[in-house]
Amino acid sequence: MKRRVAFLVALVVVGAVVVWIRLRGTTPSLSDADSSQVVEWSGATMGGTWSVKIPHAMADEEKLHKRVADELARLDSLLSLWHEDSEVSRFNRPKGVEWISVSKDLAEIVSVARQVSEETGGAFDITIAPLVNLWGFGPAQSGGRNGVVSAEAEIAAARARVGWRGVEARVSPPALRKARAEIAIDLGAIGKGYAADAVARILDSAGVKDYLIAIGGELRGHGHSASGAAWKVGVETPVADVQRVLLSVELKEQGISTSGDYRNFFEMGGVRYCHEIDPRTGWPIAAARGLAGVSVIHSSSVRADALATGFFVLGAEEGFKKAEEMGIAALFVTRGQGKFEMKMTKEFAGPVKR
Ligand code: ADP
Ligand code: MG
Repeated sequence: MKRRVAFLVALVVVGAVVVWIRLRGTTPSLSDADSSQVVEWSGATMGGTWSVKIPHAMADEEKLHKRVADELARLDSLLSLWHEDSEVSRFNRPKGVEWISVSKDLAEIVSVARQVSEETGGAFDITIAPLVNLWGFGPAQSGGRNGVVSAEAEIAAARARVGWRGVEARVSPPALRKARAEIAIDLGAIGKGYAADAVARILDSAGVKDYLIAIGGELRGHGHSASGAAWKVGVETPVADVQRVLLSVELKEQGISTSGDYRNFFEMGGVRYCHEIDPRTGWPIAAARGLAGVSVIHSSSVRADALATGFFVLGAEEGFKKAEEMGIAALFVTRGQGKFEMKMTKEFAGPVKR
C-alpha cells in the first residue's frame, strides 16, 4: 500500500516537473507576436540615428535599453571627430611618436582598419583625415567646399600626411603609435560598424536571441523578426532623397553595410564628388566613374563597414575582383544606360530574397 502511494506521489511530482519545464520553454510564437509587445529603442549617435528592434516582450527591458544607449554614447564620445575632447580628437593632436595608451575599443578598431587597408591595397585608409578636411567633409570646415576645387599643392601636402602604415595598433595592453607626429585618423568609415557589433555583444550577453540593430546605415540582424523568419532588409536604390528598395536580403547573425556616392556629396565645376576619398590620388570619388554603391554582408559589422568603403574606393572592376578573391558577399551597383546594373559575388546571392 505504502509503495503504491509513494509511486503515485512520484508520478505526480514528475508530471508537475515536466509541465513546468514545458511552460518555461514556451516563448510566445514570434509570428503571432502582438505588435504592442514589440520592443523598439532609438536615439542619436555618431552624427546619425540608431535603433534596436526586438520582436517580443522581455524582462528588464528598461535596464537593457539603458545599457545599449550608454554604450552608444560612450563609443560616440571616444570615436567622434565632432567632439573636440573625444579620444580620437585628442589622439589626432600632434604630439610625440611614442606608444599612447588608448581604450580597448580604439585599439581594436585601428587594428581591424589596418587589416582592411592591407587587404584593399591601401584604398581603405583611416589616416585619410587631412584629405577629408581639405575637401570639406570633416569637422574643420563644416559646410563643405562650396564648389571650390582644392589646389594641387594643397592636395599634395595633405597626401604627404596620409598612409595607413602611419598608425600602429597594439591590442593588449591597448595602445596606438604614430609613425609621424602629424598623422591624424578619421573613423567615419568604420565606427558605425564597430558600434553595431558592440550593441550585438550586449544583447547576446543578455540572452536576447532576436533583434535588428541599425546604426546610421549599418544594419545587423540576429534570429527572427516578428514574422518568424530571418530579418529581411532592403538595399536602397542609389538615388539621393529617394527611398526605394533595389533588392532585399536576409541577415542571419550578419551585418550589411553600404558605401555609395548618392547621400553625401557636393558639386564642383559641374562634376559630382562624394565623401569617399581615394588615398592614392588625394581626390574624392567622382560620380562620373559610374559605381553608385557597394554593399557588403559579413558576420562582422566592423569589417562589413570598412570593406564596403574599401571596395567602393577601388571601383567597379578592381573592387569586384578583390571581393571575389577574398570570398566576400558584395553587391556592386553601377549606373547603366537609364537603369542600375547589379553585379554580385556568389556569396551575396545566397542572402538575396525576392
Ligand atoms: P557612410 O559614412 O555614409 O556610411 P562610409 O562608411 O563609406 O560611408 O564612410 C565615409 C567616411 O569615411 C567619409 O565621410 C570619411 O570620413 C571617411 N573616408 C573617406 N574616404 C576614406 C577612405 N578611403 N578610407 C577610409 N575612410 C574614408
Ligand atoms: Mg564604411
